[in-house]
Amino acid sequence: MTQTRGKVYLIGAGPGDPGLITVKAKECIQSADVVVYDYLASPVLLDYAKKEAEIIYVGKKGGDHTLTQEKINLLLVEKAREGKSVARLKGGDPFVFGRGGEEAQELLSYGISYEVIPGVTSAVAAPAYAGIPVTHRDHTSFVSFITGHERPDKKESRMQWDIFAKSDATLVFLMGVKNLSNIVTKLMEHGKPSDTPVALVRWGTTTRQQTVTGTLDTIVDAVEKAGLKSPAIIVVGHVVSLRDELAWFDKKPLFGKKIVITRARAQASGLVAELNRLGAQCIEIPTIKIAPPEDKNPLEAAIDHLDRYDWLVLTSVNGVKFFFDTLFEKGKDVRALGHLKFACIGPVTKERLADYGIISDILPETYQAESVVDAFSGLDMTGKKVLLPRAKKARTILPEQLTRMGALVDEVTAYETRLADEGKDLLIDMLKAGDIDAVTFTSSSTVTNFLTLLDGQNVPALLEGVILASIGPITSDTIRAKGLAPDIEADSFTIEGLIEALLEHYEKALPSVADN
Ligand code: SAH
Repeated sequence: MTQTRGKVYLIGAGPGDPGLITVKAKECIQSADVVVYDYLASPVLLDYAKKEAEIIYVGKKGGDHTLTQEKINLLLVEKAREGKSVARLKGGDPFVFGRGGEEAQELLSYGISYEVIPGVTSAVAAPAYAGIPVTHRDHTSFVSFITGHERPDKKESRMQWDIFAKSDATLVFLMGVKNLSNIVTKLMEHGKPSDTPVALVRWGTTTRQQTVTGTLDTIVDAVEKAGLKSPAIIVVGHVVSLRDELAWFDKKPLFGKKIVITRARAQASGLVAELNRLGAQCIEIPTIKIAPPEDKNPLEAAIDHLDRYDWLVLTSVNGVKFFFDTLFEKGKDVRALGHLKFACIGPVTKERLADYGIISDILPETYQAESVVDAFSGLDMTGKKVLLPRAKKARTILPEQLTRMGALVDEVTAYETRLADEGKDLLIDMLKAGDIDAVTFTSSSTVTNFLTLLDGQNVPALLEGVILASIGPITSDTIRAKGLAPDIEADSFTIEGLIEALLEHYEKALPSVADN
């Protein structure tokens, strides 16, 4: 067996917002055999890893280390010795209070080669997302990154409180939340004015970001009152006062809103990305799993005999995916579809079809089965053979209406939706804690399955004050049929429409200027 020598990449994973990863780091994760990460690195970055990559979580949250630093070091050595390319993701920048230097020394002592990929450090990024520039010519001439938590075994303090106190530097403390009152006291004891502005930014750059501001005198109480905990950056200095003017991230329209996404995980990314962009925090509780049909025969048989059909009608992105997956599995390609006419139920399905190089002949004006029927009504469908690959247990209106028009409809199951319940406990806990602002429903089955997850619970009490957002009238009807009331309904039956409706809802809910 030939073995290439492995290598360890010490990668700055950025401060939390997954968009703040460098191009080089992303490429490195994409090609790694092993990805080792801890709690500060955004788990979203793991999606870049190869399917077969080994993903190892090594924890490191305050004192409760899942693996000790020595064990992490040994793990890196062991994997590299197996000839693997190891991506070691570290929050922020690996060489800024990340023990990256120690890990590199350890690797060196074992003769393991390594590279360092710097990252966006939270020391700069968390303040930036809170509207605090760490330098500004009017306020400060230098900036210091300071540990808020000296090594517990350190005999003599290296903290130069007198210098920190006397300079006009912006002081950025990391790992300092627990030690805040000590930090503040020391600075004032050494002469820093008690009215010096201070900010704490927790989970900076993420949609969970929380900022508390005050002065050296008031910040301890303010932080206690807000219940703010680690991980947070402490910024001390006049630049903090610029936040009043420069805050931007927390002004996003959905900032601070916790929104449950009930779609299947594989389909949720577009909705999640857009809601994140608007500042919302998405809690993914998929209620649906999408799976190939238990019996694949009908779909395979239809694909074996495509020449028998005149039309292919696709009602969902999943329908498109499973149809083409099966087509390709059978060794065919799009040339087998050249004689067919296509209809799609909505613009997203149409786009997905276009990914395969096919332009839909029909796109209805609104995106539900009834409108597809309208779109066909100008055509003579008598005797036309229609293949309708779609979900098991789909609504019957479409095949019924097409049949009424004289078409011969062959409905085959292309995929099945099943109940997903992995998020059940999290959902119930968060609802009980009053920690959810809104729940989005993108189909009737998300409603039904969501309520299945809440079986046995006092649903009206749990959903008190929670906004129920529906993608369209059919989903809303299902919500009503379950004895609940949708608060928001999209008027275009699309994800964009749903987001638009959420935005409108929250804009209306904002206090008007006169109220202030
Ligand atoms: N190498 C990291 C710092 C690791 S030390 C970096 O460059 O960012 C861990 C400390 O970093 C935490 O205690 C906290 O003070 C800070 N930190 C990391 N990510 C943070 C975030 N998203 N928001 C606020 N503070 C963060």
